[in-house]
Amino acid sequence: MAQTIFDKIIAREISARIVYEDDDVLAFYDVAPKAPTHILVIPKKPIENLLATTEHDTVLLGKLLAASVHVARAEGLASDGFRVVINTGKNGGQSVDHLHLHILGGRQMAWPPG
Ligand code: AMP
Repeated sequence: MAQTIFDKIIAREISARIVYEDDDVLAFYDVAPKAPTHILVIPKKPIENLLATTEHDTVLLGKLLAASVHVARAEGLASDGFRVVINTGKNGGQSVDHLHLHILGGRQMAWPPG
C-alpha cells in the first residue's frame, strides 16, 4: 500500500495535535475541521479503508470504536452527543487512503448527510 499523510503522522514525520495513542490506534485533530470538534481515529496498521479489512481485523475495528468513545468523552462530547463517520471509496468521499473514523461534535449535525 502506498504511503499516505497519515503514515507520516504515525511516524511523527509531520506534526498533528494527537489526543490519544496506544499500540494499535492513534487519534488526532483534523487539520481542516468540519465541526467545532473534529478528530480522526486511525489504526497504526496501514489499511486502505473498510473494504480492505478482513476477519483478522475484527478486534482492531472494535478497538477503533472503543478509542472513539474514549476520545469523544475526553474531548467533552459525551453530554451533547457526536457523530462517527467512515468515508469509504469514491462515493463515500474518502480522500486519504488509510482507514479513519471521523469524530464530529460541538454542533447539531444534519441528517441525511450530504
Ligand atoms: P476523508 O475525506 O474521509 O478521507 O478524510 C480525510 C481527512 O483527513 C480530511 O478531513 C482532511 O481534512 C484530513 N487531513 C488531511 N491531512 C491531514 C493532516 N496532515 N492532519 C490532520 N488531518 C488531515
